[in-house]
Amino acid sequence: MSAKSDIENVLQRIKVCSPGQNEFYQAAHEVLHSLIPLLEEDEIYCANNILERITVAERTIIFRVNWVDDQGKIQTNLGYRVQFNSAIGPYKGGLRFHPSVNLGIIKFLGFEQIFKNSLTGLPIGGAKGGSNFDPKGKSDNEIMRFCQSFMSELYKHIGETKDVPAGDIGVGAREIGYLFGQYKRLTGTFEGVLTGKNINWGGSNARKEATGYGSVYFADNFLRKYNKSLEDKVCTVSGSGNVAIYTIEKLYSMGAIPVTCSDSRGSIYHKNGIDLNSLKAVKEINKQSLEAYVALHSDAVYTPVSHYPKGGHQVWSIPCDIAFPSATQNELTIEDAKMLVDHGCILVNEGANMPTTPDAITYLQKHHVLFAPGKAANAGGVATSQLEMSQNASMATWTFEEVDNKLRQIMSNIFKTAYETSKEFNCEGDLVTGANIAGFRKVADSMIDQGAI
Ligand code: NDP
Repeated sequence: MSAKSDIENVLQRIKVCSPGQNEFYQAAHEVLHSLIPLLEEDEIYCANNILERITVAERTIIFRVNWVDDQGKIQTNLGYRVQFNSAIGPYKGGLRFHPSVNLGIIKFLGFEQIFKNSLTGLPIGGAKGGSNFDPKGKSDNEIMRFCQSFMSELYKHIGETKDVPAGDIGVGAREIGYLFGQYKRLTGTFEGVLTGKNINWGGSNARKEATGYGSVYFADNFLRKYNKSLEDKVCTVSGSGNVAIYTIEKLYSMGAIPVTCSDSRGSIYHKNGIDLNSLKAVKEINKQSLEAYVALHSDAVYTPVSHYPKGGHQVWSIPCDIAFPSATQNELTIEDAKMLVDHGCILVNEGANMPTTPDAITYLQKHHVLFAPGKAANAGGVATSQLEMSQNASMATWTFEEVDNKLRQIMSNIFKTAYETSKEFNCEGDLVTGANIAGFRKVADSMIDQGAI
C-alpha cells in the first residue's frame, strides 16, 4: 500500500471514529500530508502502522466537575485530559479553561503537542487537557472551588514522572496555584506535578515570558537566515493574553514596532506602537476589556469584534511587515492572508496553536511569505516548562538570565532542526514540512524501538 493511501485510510478512520472533531481532523490532515516525503523514502513507518497508532491517544479521560458558585448553586462542567503519546517522555501539555473547549479541541491540541515537544529536543511526551468552564466573570473563590474540584479527579492520572500539566488559555498563575494546592492536599506530596508555578514555591524564572519571547527568538532566527532582521519592522500581534503581551515586550527589545493587539471583544491599532505598561495594566492587572486602553491613549483606535469582516480578524487588515497571530485557532483566514500579501508582509509567525487556516497557509507560502508554524515557533513555553521540571527535580533555581539564555538556545536549535529537515526533503524554508517531519521522526522511531505497546 502507498503512503498516500495509508494516509487517506487513517484520515477516513478519524472521520468515522471522531465525528464532528473538526479541529482534530484539520491538525491530523496537515501533519499526515506533510509527512509524505518521509513515508515514501522509508517504508518502516507505514510497515509499523505508525500513522494509525500516532493519531489515537494512549488514554482519554473525561470527567464531570461539580462546583458550588457564590450563590450556593451547584454548577457542572466537563473536564478532559488526553494523554496522547509517551514514546519520548512523560506526558506534558497545558490545560485550557474556555467555554469553547470540547474533546475535538483538546485532541487537536494534544496531537500537535506530541510533535512540538519532540522538536524541543527535550524528553517530554504530548498531552492536553482542560474544561468548558469559563473563568470570565467568576470570583476568585469560584475559580478556586472549580480548580479544587477539577483536580479532585485529575490527580489520579498525573504525577511528576507520569503527566505534568501546565497553563494555556484561561489558566495562568492563579489557577495553577489552586490546582497545585489541591494536588498537594490530596496526595500529601510536594512535587513538580504542574509547571507555571509561582516562583516562591517551585516556579521557574522566565516561564511567564517564555512563549512570547521564544516566538520572537524564532522569528529572529528565521529572518536572519534570509539576511533580514526585526529592526524597525512594523508588527501586528493578535491576542492580549500571556503569549501576546510577552511577544510585544520582546519585539520592543529587538527594535521592532508592535502596533496591534486584540481580545475576544475587539482590537487596538496604535500606530506609534502599543504602550506595554498600559496593556499590562488593562489586561494583566485589571482584567478589563481592551476598550479601556483607548481611555489611556486617545490616538489609538479600538474596533469591536462586530465590525470584523466575516470570518476574519481586524488586526490582519493593518499593513505590517510581520504578523504574530497569538490568540487562538483558525483566527487568520484566507481573506486575512490576501490582505497580508497585498500589504507586503514578509513573515507570519504563529504564537498561538494552529491560528492560520490551511488555505491561508497555502496562499502565504505560494506568495513567498515566510511561514513559521506554531508547533515550532511557540515551543518556548513548553521548553521552559521542562526546564522548570529539571529545576524541581534537582531542587535548584536558575536566574532569569540563565533560563532566558537556555530558551534562546532551544529556539535556535528548533529553528535549525526544522530548517535543516526542510532542506533534507528538498523544500528548503518550508518549515511546516520541516517541523512536522523532524517532530514525527523522533517519536515514530521511539515507538518502533519500544515495540507494539
Ligand atoms: P490567554 O488566556 O492568556 O490569552 C488568550 C488571548 O486570546 C486573550 O486575549 C483572549 O481574549 C484571546 N482569545 C481567546 N479566544 C479568542 C477567540 N475565540 N477570539 C478572539 N480572541 C480570543 O492565553 P495564552 O496567551 O496563553 O494563549 C494564546 C494562544 O497561545 C493559544 O492558542 C494557546 O494554545 C497558545 N499557546 C500558549 C502557550 C502558553 O505558554 N501560554 C504555549 C504555547 C501555545 P479575552 O481576553 O477576551 O479572553
